[in-house]
Amino acid sequence: MAKRDYYQILGVSRQATLDEIKSAYRKLAMQYHPDRNPGNKEAEERFKEITEAYEVLSDEEKRRRYDQFGHEGIRAGQDFHQYSSMEDIFSAFGDIFGSSFFEDLFGEQSSRRHTARQPKPQGERGADLRVQLPLRLEEIASGVEKTIRVKRYLTCSTCNGSGSRSGSSGFTTCPRCNGTGQISQVSRSMFGQFVNITTCPSCNGTGTILTDPCPACKGEGRTLGEDTIKVSIPAGVYEGMQLTLRRKGHAGRQSGPPGDLVIIIQEIEHPYFTRQGNHLHYHLTISFPDAVLGGEVEVPTIDGTALLQIKPGTQPGTILRMRGKGLPRMETGERGDQLVTVNIYVPTKVTQRERELLRELAESENIAPKRRRKESKETGFFGKFRNNFSL
Ligand SMILES: [Zn+2]
Ligand SMILES: [Zn+2]
Repeated sequence: MAKRDYYQILGVSRQATLDEIKSAYRKLAMQYHPDRNPGNKEAEERFKEITEAYEVLSDEEKRRRYDQFGHEGIRAGQDFHQYSSMEDIFSAFGDIFGSSFFEDLFGEQSSRRHTARQPKPQGERGADLRVQLPLRLEEIASGVEKTIRVKRYLTCSTCNGSGSRSGSSGFTTCPRCNGTGQISQVSRSMFGQFVNITTCPSCNGTGTILTDPCPACKGEGRTLGEDTIKVSIPAGVYEGMQLTLRRKGHAGRQSGPPGDLVIIIQEIEHPYFTRQGNHLHYHLTISFPDAVLGGEVEVPTIDGTALLQIKPGTQPGTILRMRGKGLPRMETGERGDQLVTVNIYVPTKVTQRERELLRELAESENIAPKRRRKESKETGFFGKFRNNFSL
């Protein structure tokens, strides 16, 4: 397959300055970054392509050779990284840009992903543990302490996490990398000398090799077990929100740092209230006399019942606002409102006495709805209705 022109890939001119190249790359990298396009192979390929173009064009010497010789002047693995996987790209980021570049660009997540790929002085970091935590709206309103049961890797109690039966003496320095965890290979070409640094495959970058594995964990330094974890959930969390507890995930291999525990909030549906942001919606049904005459009615709220004033002449569908009776904002604690939609109760069964009273009431001129203009002509639907049935 013919390689595309690097300038074209980044969408810059051949005279572009370094700043223009940087800003073009930044823009494209944001667009095609795999964190923003999970599982999208095409985006991944584009991302590799623009990264390669950037590596060459941002280096004065490589760019000069590219300008003079085209792709012939550039060598894969020496002038740019040949990425086999996304993991590869992340491990290369630090070398090309320095970690702050990507921290600026994509925030903490990428830089953490990137630093996790660095050679490890200790064992491997444990994986993150994700759990769903269902909460009632009442718990969300007040904040709550929860005890979560999880299955996770725990530090092996027999070897204290080292993985070795005899403690630290059960390790020897890796002979292949002399304990550095890295292997460097020097290659020469007509363009100069290049040093490639890779993770040592014998010790996986740890720099040590285990000679006397612990029988309880088979050298892992951790065993699978059950654990209970106390968490304090702040008021105002919402569905899908993720709370991260540092170092409460799986224990790492051979004394490696533990992963994080990620708690994903789930809202249990409430029998009365519907949540909208920090407001709560409630449907209130009042009697016809209360709607006409007004009065005080008891209304449930998230923290007990409260009295609500009904004005005389309240119409069905009216929305009344109970200020500060909603849920607190997590950041400020400031509470939303409870919004009450008023419904009017129509009884389906009435006694003889009630029937008489209603009949009598129906005679009164204020009881029937006022005719609207559109219906005022006797030829309209309601006019005909009235003529035929003489209500
Ligand atoms: Zn052990
Ligand atoms: Zn090694």
